[in-house]
Amino acid sequence: MYLNEGFFGGGSEGPVCKACKLPILKGQPVTRVAFDGNAHDMSGDYHKACGKPFASMANALNMMSRFGR
Ligand SMILES: [Zn+2]
Repeated sequence: MYLNEGFFGGGSEGPVCKACKLPILKGQPVTRVAFDGNAHDMSGDYHKACGKPFASMANALNMMSRFGR
């Protein structure tokens, strides 16, 4: 997964949704998704609506990585 590194270099003013790349504004519902292992690039904050599929993906992946050990 390729991320635009430069995007994070400047003075960012807050969390950016990892899915749609738009800033998460104050008061917007946020879903924090944490991926284990090699998908951790995708960990971060999402708008609640954007994060829904990622949250369930994270649950599944994290469960697999736990069982895989
Ligand atoms: Zn979003």
